[in-house]
Amino acid sequence: MHEKKPGLFRKLMQKIPLLRSLKTYIFVLMLAVGIIPSVILRMGILQSYEERAVSLRATDVYTQYMIIANHLLNYNYLQDTSSEVINAELDQMSNLYDGRVLIINGNFRIVKDTYGISEGKTVISEEVIKCFRGESTTRHDSNNGYIEMTIPIVEQVEKDGRETSQVRGVILASASTDSIVVTLDILKRKALILEIVMAVIIVGGVLFFSHILIRPFSRVTQAINEVKDGFTDEPISVPDYIETEHIVDAFNQLLARMKVINDSRQEFVANVSHELKTPMTSVKVLADSLNQQPDAPVELYREFMQDITEEIERENKIINDLLALVKMDKTEAKMDISTVDINQLLEATLKRLRPIARKRDVEVVFESIRPVTAEVDEVKVSQIFTNLVENAIKYNKEHGWVKVLLDADHQFFTVEISDSGVGIPEADHEHIFERFYRVDKSHSREIGGTGLGLSITRNAVLLHRGSIKVSSVEGEGTCFTVKIPLSYIR
Ligand code: ADP
Repeated sequence: MHEKKPGLFRKLMQKIPLLRSLKTYIFVLMLAVGIIPSVILRMGILQSYEERAVSLRATDVYTQYMIIANHLLNYNYLQDTSSEVINAELDQMSNLYDGRVLIINGNFRIVKDTYGISEGKTVISEEVIKCFRGESTTRHDSNNGYIEMTIPIVEQVEKDGRETSQVRGVILASASTDSIVVTLDILKRKALILEIVMAVIIVGGVLFFSHILIRPFSRVTQAINEVKDGFTDEPISVPDYIETEHIVDAFNQLLARMKVINDSRQEFVANVSHELKTPMTSVKVLADSLNQQPDAPVELYREFMQDITEEIERENKIINDLLALVKMDKTEAKMDISTVDINQLLEATLKRLRPIARKRDVEVVFESIRPVTAEVDEVKVSQIFTNLVENAIKYNKEHGWVKVLLDADHQFFTVEISDSGVGIPEADHEHIFERFYRVDKSHSREIGGTGLGLSITRNAVLLHRGSIKVSSVEGEGTCFTVKIPLSYIR
């Protein structure tokens, strides 16, 4: 399969272990939540303070110059700038607001400049033209720290019996905003100090809380380590969070499964040793009794040697069955899949087993509803058939019968092996597939059983993703049904 390339962030995460820590993310998140709003708040408050202060100053300046505009008209200042009173008033204003005042008459000429440098010059700027139309303007130059505004000098005149306003001239005034800037700087400094103090408190708090928040996860690791190191094998519990509870639940389930596996492994080893020891004990008893009788007759030797050979054969059979079982016990047992004619395979199996059946006077019948070919591991399927038919013959009655029925649908083929034998008690149904389990130990031993056959059979069936079922009535007979997919499911 085509592997997805890790993204840049994933690569970074692999290189920098800190980026893979939940603690880092909690830390960054809490820090962002704590600090970003305070930064935004500071910037917002300072900005709105500045706007408000400038707007107040502008209104103040405007009002003052509106009053002066009236005085200018009263003193006819646009025509004659010699009025001491007005000049003093203008100088005072220019000093008060630390700015410049230009008085422009109806011809766009500067009649008065408090700086005294532009008198007599003409000004035709956009603002001035707008102002002559009656529209006063205000502009704030925050870089250079001043407000510039135009104020119309309006005269009320009677025309055709109606009062109309006429703009006679324009006051172009500037006012410094330095005092606002100074206040703003002080505020900024204070806000920054406050923010640094807050940041320190937040960082401390966040460090503390991210540590506290992550603690249950450390407890999970600690509890798992205790199990790993063998201090306990009891289920662990960290109920602090739902998340830790989920992890711990999954771990406990794994622990329980491993216990079951371990128990069954121990039981298996105990069973294997016992089963392998039994024939050996018999061999030793037989050999010992011969050794103790130096004058034993040859017939006795022959008889005992025959028994010893049988016990060795039994040992051999157990070992072979064990090997077959171990091979198939692996979850990923190697499967040698090919297309197999199931009818032919069943017939060959029955042919091999008929002599044994004949010996026990058991009739074997094969019935096939349709020809079946399937993708299977031939050796393993042959083992399934052999074990089941052999059991049906072994656990049969005299003059009994074994019937093998083959059928298939579009997905599976089914083999039913029924017999007229001793049957299996209901309570044993769930156990017969366990390793070394036998319903009647002595009878099974007598007829050469190892208790591994059905276990091997079930493993072989499961490797084909199939199923095996048993139905039986004690004393009447047994029926095993094997169902295997026609195409192998990988
Ligand atoms: P064994 O080698 O003892 O036959 P198996 O695993 O093949 O071991 O079978 C387990 C037990 O199931 C047998 O000991 C026997 O008691 C019972 N059994 C299996 N097949 C049949 C059958 N067809 N009829 C009656 N009992 C059976």
